[in-house]
Amino acid sequence: MSEVLEKIWQHQQISRVELVEHTGLTSGTITNLTHELIERNVIREFEAISGNVGRRRVMLGFDPGQYRIIGLDIGRATVEIVVVDLHGNVLRTIERDMSDKAGPDDYFAVIDPLLSELKNDIEKAGYTILGLGAGVPGPMDYGAGKLLDPPNFPGWQGYPLRSVLEEKFSLVTMIEDDARTSAMAERWYGLGRTIQDLVFITMGIGIGGGVVSGGKIVRGTNGLCGQVGHMTIVIDGNMCDCGNRGCWETVGSIPGILSRWPGGGSMDRFAEAVRAGDPDAVRCMEDTLGYLETALINVFNLYDPELVVLGGRLYPYLADYMAPVQRHLRSRLYAFAKDRLRIEPSTFGTSQSAVGAAALVFGFLLSEPVRLLSLAEA
Ligand SMILES: [Zn+2]
Repeated sequence: MSEVLEKIWQHQQISRVELVEHTGLTSGTITNLTHELIERNVIREFEAISGNVGRRRVMLGFDPGQYRIIGLDIGRATVEIVVVDLHGNVLRTIERDMSDKAGPDDYFAVIDPLLSELKNDIEKAGYTILGLGAGVPGPMDYGAGKLLDPPNFPGWQGYPLRSVLEEKFSLVTMIEDDARTSAMAERWYGLGRTIQDLVFITMGIGIGGGVVSGGKIVRGTNGLCGQVGHMTIVIDGNMCDCGNRGCWETVGSIPGILSRWPGGGSMDRFAEAVRAGDPDAVRCMEDTLGYLETALINVFNLYDPELVVLGGRLYPYLADYMAPVQRHLRSRLYAFAKDRLRIEPSTFGTSQSAVGAAALVFGFLLSEPVRLLSLAEA
């Protein structure tokens, strides 16, 4: 059933005959499986007119009429909540600013009323909520559903977020590192719909990464897989919070850039100085792009992704300078692979992690539809 759902998702609309061709299952099996999925309101039939002869064909696609998924992002400065349907449309977005001293109690004082009301509204309107996904600053213990030791996020060390959310809202709950939720937003709802191997890099106060390989999130032994911000870029460079020296994050994140620019101040001021041709600012930007280029080469050679997606609050400041970075990159990659290189900006902007949190639940639906539907309806 999972294979059939994934094919329908990839194609958006597909006929039963095409499903037989693409899956290798018998037409009897396809008839039974699609019948059950239609009964359960996961997919629906609709008529499409195909070809120049104008023949009507019965197609299958996801049914946005019954289920909703809630995505929550708990960030260092904001809380964001989105509601998504089974087409991946973002139907609602709620955002609140948080102070940087806020701990779990302060966050839940904001989240509790918002989520309770939202859940009520959705259910009153007759929809079923499939689940709640949450993105959090990493690193985290995925198995235990706990935050581990997120830097600059006081009060959250060891916090059992998944069980707290489950208890409060009685929904199927999944939590994940926010760089990985961001990757899953692309995987299911963005550029990666038909892509199995992608790396998402988020650049802001820190630099994080989410690796999707064979369509699945890769976590590693300690949940550290994809921590691209901590690859060594400057040998004998400055100390990093992680214990290493010269991590990309120490020079390539927003604080890293501003610490190297003698002009001081904000990213906006820095960007202005670069545009005005200030020599210190230009040199600092050139170095920043050089670090990015080196990091991207390492990412390509380590993970061999089909697609690298760049996001986070820093990216808009670098976007105008990406053409030369891409050009240099191509000259430094394996010749046979260089033309397959694809680097794109993220699809969902500041909502990336919240949308990706919802995508976690969507991924669960596609891999274990019967189990998730019975949990959601329980
Ligand atoms: Zn580090």
